[in-house]
Amino acid sequence: MTTAKFDIVVLPGDGIGPEITAPSVRLVEEAGRQFGLDFRFEFVEAGAELYARSGVAFPEENFQRAAAADAIYLCAMGLPHIRYPDGTEVGPQHDLRKRLKLYAGVRPCKTMPGVPLPLADPRAQKLDFVIIRESTEGLFAFPRGHELDSDEYAHNLLRISKTVCDKLFDFSFRLARRRHQQGTGQNLVTHIDKANVLSSQHRARQWFYEAAKRYPDVKAAHQYVDFCAFDMVRKPWVLDVMPTENQYGDILSDLASALMGGMGMAPSADVGDDNAVFQPCHGTAPDIMGQGKANPTAMILSGAMMLEYLGDRKNVPAAYQGAAKLTKAVEAAYAKGDLLPCELGGSCGTKAILDAIGRELTR
Ligand code: ATP
Repeated sequence: MTTAKFDIVVLPGDGIGPEITAPSVRLVEEAGRQFGLDFRFEFVEAGAELYARSGVAFPEENFQRAAAADAIYLCAMGLPHIRYPDGTEVGPQHDLRKRLKLYAGVRPCKTMPGVPLPLADPRAQKLDFVIIRESTEGLFAFPRGHELDSDEYAHNLLRISKTVCDKLFDFSFRLARRRHQQGTGQNLVTHIDKANVLSSQHRARQWFYEAAKRYPDVKAAHQYVDFCAFDMVRKPWVLDVMPTENQYGDILSDLASALMGGMGMAPSADVGDDNAVFQPCHGTAPDIMGQGKANPTAMILSGAMMLEYLGDRKNVPAAYQGAAKLTKAVEAAYAKGDLLPCELGGSCGTKAILDAIGRELTR
């Protein structure tokens, strides 16, 4: 059996982060171990709690360790009662995305049998689409004010660049092509925008169709973001790969999480040219922290996405096998139909879910 070694920096963050991160790391490690992978997990501190204690949310030394790792496994950061002087929440994961240029926020919406879902239509029980949220620019480019701010006016500048859009669209077309080759999706990329109102979005759409010419084998389309939200509830089974502006992607991702059953079910990845962060779509869930109710599924599935990424970037097929095994263990645990997380109205807390997935993984 081949042995590959990966350095992973783990950022448990705040709220429910520390409760679900360490046990999820153990499952990722076990999945990899079964296929000869060796990991060095280094737990690193960053987040709102650290800011409250020290005045620094993400010490430079910790950032540099994360930047040097093969991948970053992050849970969530930020707490409502800990804020910067301008009133915004302490969320150094946003800075991480910008500094490491993690432009492609991959937000898959893939449903699993056995998980109660909000839409009754049988076609909504088998969803498999991906939002690609641009994660470094857009309306989140300048979240902390603007030179035109005054006592009367407050601004946030929406800025996009052709360079980042090009990368985002290339990523999206390659993903749609790959999904199609693997028998998933419709070989379709749909640009989600507001090109009828915002000139920046009009330009983004033009850049999108220029990029589409580089992928003549993949279909290209566009849709307004408001109508996309409508379709995500009305007929989400028609969706495939959808690149979009940062804030639109942020909002649509939460809607997609609901289609998967809940916040605790939705994994994600933020990918750049040289680095990648894997983290659940949810936040720190301060309302349930310390109660043993947090659902670790999204964190575990994000770990599976991390293994897949390592397989891809480092050309290690065993990492793909580990990813597939971990994903199958999660699916098998839910397929029985008796694993109902607290957030979905059931009684299964963090431990019950971890145990059920762990049993399937070592079966
Ligand atoms: P952010 O702005 O960082 O995305 P948020 O404040 O919008 O965070 P979350 O922290 O994700 O939102 O919480 C939204 C709701 O979802 C809360 O009621 C929370 O308890 C619930 N929730 C989030 N994650 C989980 C989880 N893993 N398990 C169970 N419930 C969760």
